[in-house]
Amino acid sequence: MDINVFKFGGASISNANGVINVASILSKFSHQKIATVVSATGKTTNQLEDVVNAYYHKLADPLACLNIVKSNHLGIMKDLEIDDPNAIADVMDSFVEIDWVIEDEAHDPYDYIYDQIVSVGEIVSSKIVYHYLKSIKVNVGWLDIRDVLFTDEIHREAKVDWAISTEKVRSKVNELFSEYDLIITQGFIGSTTDNHTTTLGREGSDYTAAIISYCVDAKGMHIWKDVAGVLTGDPRKFDNVLKIERLSYKEAIEMTYYGAKVIHPKTIKPIQNKNIPLYVRPFDDPSSFGTTISTEGEMSYPPIIVVEPDQCLVNISVNDFSFVAEHHMSNIFKTLADLRLKVNMMRNTAISFTICVQNDQAKLKILKESLSCDFTIMITENLELITVRHYIDATIEELKKGKLVLFEEKLNDMVQMVVKDIPLIKRK
Ligand code: ASP
Ligand code: MG
Repeated sequence: MDINVFKFGGASISNANGVINVASILSKFSHQKIATVVSATGKTTNQLEDVVNAYYHKLADPLACLNIVKSNHLGIMKDLEIDDPNAIADVMDSFVEIDWVIEDEAHDPYDYIYDQIVSVGEIVSSKIVYHYLKSIKVNVGWLDIRDVLFTDEIHREAKVDWAISTEKVRSKVNELFSEYDLIITQGFIGSTTDNHTTTLGREGSDYTAAIISYCVDAKGMHIWKDVAGVLTGDPRKFDNVLKIERLSYKEAIEMTYYGAKVIHPKTIKPIQNKNIPLYVRPFDDPSSFGTTISTEGEMSYPPIIVVEPDQCLVNISVNDFSFVAEHHMSNIFKTLADLRLKVNMMRNTAISFTICVQNDQAKLKILKESLSCDFTIMITENLELITVRHYIDATIEELKKGKLVLFEEKLNDMVQMVVKDIPLIKRK
């Protein structure tokens, strides 16, 4: 059986028109077996994070925050003319999972509570898409991905248990396809084997689609987006960006690792391991295949620019003037690994070691504390990491305008630089 896996992000289903557009794309593939992964609608994940923070840190009334989310979803259903009371109840009952949590005082750890609350965004969006498709007489099945996608207990960054998930996803999806041509399920969420909901990390729905693709040996995976495909830079930041027709898995994983937001970085490995092509397609032109990511990329690429904001440089220097030798390094890296803090660039001198990492205040505080015995730590904030693959000098010069370069490295045909804005000095 040929199965294709589709993924629609939150922006594509942020309102009723979006859902109708998704349905019209899906109708072009009727009689094919399509497993469709959806994210939470629009800004729902952020709004549910507000509920978590209101509840956990007692910042505001969590119920009031939750009501915003509920009424947004009711509004979408109303605009879609979903009026079957059972369908409405099915969607709204999903919020009970949150009601139960916020009724009591917060005893569980933050990350656990986060997963129980935020995951509901995906449950309700997938139910709305499902009920809308049913209301227009599509033969569609709904799958709670938590019944088949199992993870460890690291809440908010759960790791997939591949052995058990592969078996369960494959058999459940095949079973549903014997009855339906189309399955709607959720991205981003999973479950521990003792039935606690987990999440895979923000923007993780692409990754879920890749996991499903892997498990069912999909013919292709298709991410539908509001852009023409993978571009040579973020069109909100740069003019004259080009669409890339073909990207190799290697090129795609390098781009996304350094912050290209078009695909979640974890997406590539599962599909590369099974040699499944990934198409990044424009949802306003469904006949276009957008960009194809597979073993074969272009013969040569134009410069591709990736900008990762909110970075900082952490300078770690040894207090007793001993060299930053291997034993110090292994100590530093163990701390970084335990904190799951990703190093974007690094450099060492005789007695100091400098890394560029995401400016995650909570993690950096722990890093400082854990290393303070042997090291002095200095942090420079408000930086950007610019990565240019296949660079030409003119591109680099252009990017440096108005910027102070604090750290730059060239390797093969890639340049990375950590920069900050030069404040404009004006004559009074
Ligand atoms: N809804 C989740 C998020 O916004 C997952 C996703 O969109 O991929 O992070
Ligand atoms: Mg999202």
